[in-house]
Amino acid sequence: MANQGECPKCGKRVLHVRIENVIGTIGDESSGRCIAYSCIHCNAVLGVQIDPRAKPRSRRKPGATS
Ligand SMILES: [Zn+2]
Repeated sequence: MANQGECPKCGKRVLHVRIENVIGTIGDESSGRCIAYSCIHCNAVLGVQIDPRAKPRSRRKPGATS
């Protein structure tokens, strides 16, 4: 059994994802940092989650994202 997911858009195996920093909003207010995973082949967004590195009320940046 293959244990690899496929992109629902382009059908290619998701062996790598592109991670992008995005801002989550509630209504019109930005409420926190999130990260989005997108397919490196077609850029379809595969998932978004709260950035686990982002801490509320902290301006520290772990860096190394770009
Ligand atoms: Zn894709």
